[in-house]
Amino acid sequence: MPPIYYGQRRKARSIMLTFAGRLNSQARQASAAMQAVPCIAVPPHFTSQDCSGILPDGTRCPERVHKSLSVRTHVCPSCGLIIDRDHNSGKLVVERALEMQAKTISVPVGSRKQAHAT
Ligand SMILES: [Zn+2]
Repeated sequence: MPPIYYGQRRKARSIMLTFAGRLNSQARQASAAMQAVPCIAVPPHFTSQDCSGILPDGTRCPERVHKSLSVRTHVCPSCGLIIDRDHNSGKLVVERALEMQAKTISVPVGSRKQAHAT
């Protein structure tokens, strides 16, 4: 069963189920449990204002673009990214979820590869 991704309106499926905020969180957690996919609650702070663009050096753009709720397009003056506001927010939600998941993944001691003596 492919995991389902929440966080972007227009992209229905991705690698995991993520969500920002607490609205309907119980329903989403129940949906994830029924589909046996990871469910990660992501802090929603500034996901609609922070930029998801990538700078030429490969790092993520640190710009925070303040805008009112009626402004539906994210336009970054630093990296030049122009993207739908919800798409930008969704990309940040996924990025935060992957960071949170990476911190929780552990490898059982018995399954670690042993270095071979030469
Ligand atoms: Zn930017």
